[in-house]
Order: sequence, then structure tokens, then C-alpha cells
Amino acid sequence: MRGVVLHTPGDVRVEDREDPAIIEATDAVIRITSTCICGSDLWPYRGIEPADRTPMGHEFVGVVEEVGSEVITVAPGDFVVGSFVISDGTCQICRSGYPSSCVNRSFTGEIGTQAEYARIPYADGTLVATPDQPDADLVPHLLAASDVLGTGWFGAVAAQAGPGKTVAVVGDGAVGLLAVLAARQLGAERIIAFSRHPERQALARDFGATDILTERGDAGAAAVKELTSGLGAHSVIEAVGTQESITQAIGSTRPGGHLGFVGVSHNVTLPGIDLFFAQINMLGGPAPVRRFLPDLIHRIWTGTIHPGKVFDLTLPLDNAADGYRAMDQRRATKVLLTL
Ligand SMILES: [Zn+2]
Repeated sequence: MRGVVLHTPGDVRVEDREDPAIIEATDAVIRITSTCICGSDLWPYRGIEPADRTPMGHEFVGVVEEVGSEVITVAPGDFVVGSFVISDGTCQICRSGYPSSCVNRSFTGEIGTQAEYARIPYADGTLVATPDQPDADLVPHLLAASDVLGTGWFGAVAAQAGPGKTVAVVGDGAVGLLAVLAARQLGAERIIAFSRHPERQALARDFGATDILTERGDAGAAAVKELTSGLGAHSVIEAVGTQESITQAIGSTRPGGHLGFVGVSHNVTLPGIDLFFAQINMLGGPAPVRRFLPDLIHRIWTGTIHPGKVFDLTLPLDNAADGYRAMDQRRATKVLLTL
């Protein structure tokens, strides 16, 4: 099969990889029909994380080709959406709602789903079938549920966005934009999005943002306080993962409020004394996307939400290198790869 391999930072190639096969009775092999490039794929692309002939990709939708003898919930021919985390769905951590910390966890990124096929372990705990074969125009929305929508949704749930709440979203990448959508769906009263990009500001408003702020860092936190009678937002979602963005998010949260942090942290250090006096609730980490998938698929299937609007460039898998370049140079927010 063909798949994307990052030979060294910056060197993206589409080449032959070994065809996957069923190994465990709980596996499925799927034919991937759409995949995409994630902001987090840029870390190894830029050499901030290692890359050595690394298969790439962790978001996917596709059709089940074959299942192991113990797989119950998906069958050959089903169209499925998968989480970017492999989870068994049965351990205490999964059953408590945190499949992304499953005791048998592995990451789809280790499989590399920017490829024609993939072997998915723990198919029942990782994949969710759609009600039927989707129309082509639904596919980008379903693909978004695999990571960016699920992650933005978790950020909003962790921040306890809901009726009567003022929500602030730090980060205008795909996850931040979809956190705005999630906060709107969860019934937030006011949604403040930080963005300096006109196109992303427009999409944030389309997804439900009521206010746009262009300030950053301490000035950003001060601007949120100014909009909230000096108190800060009830709910803040952090979707970047840098020192500046996390500091800005903590500073934007009112005492007693909730911060959902879903940007993958890189070189962030938080002074304990600042956390002590912030007096806020914090929950973050890799999103338990599998928990949300049935609900998200339903909202997409019924036309309630259109999260696939975050894709602003579509390319064939063979042109993946162009997609990485476009995202690295910020010419694209999120790239969809078709097979
Ligand atoms: Zn588990």
C-alpha cells in the first residue's frame, strides 16, 4: 500500500508500506477513504520532535475490510470514524469516560493513517460505524470528528461551557475554532475567540463566536477581564500548548472557573504559586474522542454541525508533501488528503 513517511524533518514522501493484516482477534483492517494533516504533525516536520522514516497520520475515516473473530460492533463494509487514540473500551479508565488514558492505550499516530489501509487494534473500543454509507459531502465533517472536533469538544466540556457561561478560546487553529463550535452547541451565552487572521475570525463567528480579540499574552487576558467586569471568563479553552498561550488562558479564567487545556504542551513551565492563587479548575490532556464520537456523528449526520469547514485545502494523498508545506507556511489551516 501507499503511505506518507517522514524520512527526516521536512522530507515528506509517499511510498510503499507493508500491507496491514489482522494480528489479534480484536483487530480490524480498514481501507482509508480520507485522512488529514494535523497541526501536531508539524512538530516532527519542523524537527521539534524526532523523525526517522516515521509513518505519519492519526486521523481517518474509511471502510472496514476485515475484522478479527472477537470484534462485535463493526463489520466488513461499515463506514467508520476512528479516534486518534486506540482504546479497549472495557477497562475501568475507559468506562469512566477517559479512553484516551486506557490501560491498553496506544496512539493511532504509531500506525500512520495517512495511508491506503490501516490495522486498528481494539476495533470495538476505537471505531464507531456511521448509520449508513455517508454522502460525499458529509465525509469531511466526519473526518473532523476523528481528532480536531473531538479535541475541541473535550476542551469545551472540560471547561464546563454551557448555558449562562462566558467562554474564551485561546488558539485559532482547527481545534480552537471547533472549540468555539462546541461551546455554542453546549449552549454558552458568550464566546470570545482570540484570532488575528481575517479568515479564521470569520469562521470563528460562523461557528458561534460573539467577540473576537486580537491581543495576546497578558494583554489578551486583560482584554477578557475588560469584557467580563474585571472577573475573567467562566470557561476557558486552551488549544495551542505554548508558554504564552497557557499563561494567557490561566489569566483569562475567573476564580472558581474552569480551564480545559487541549493544546499539546511544549516546553511549558508553570510556577506553583501562580496556580495556587489562580484558584481555578483545570482538566486537559489527550481528548477522550471515543466517548464523544456517537454524539458527534449524530450531530453531523443530522446536519446540525459542519465541522469540516476547517479544511481549507484538499489534495490527493500523493501530494501530501505540498499539504505539509502549506500548513507549515500557514497558507492552510487544515489539509484533507483524499484516497
Ligand atoms: Zn481501556
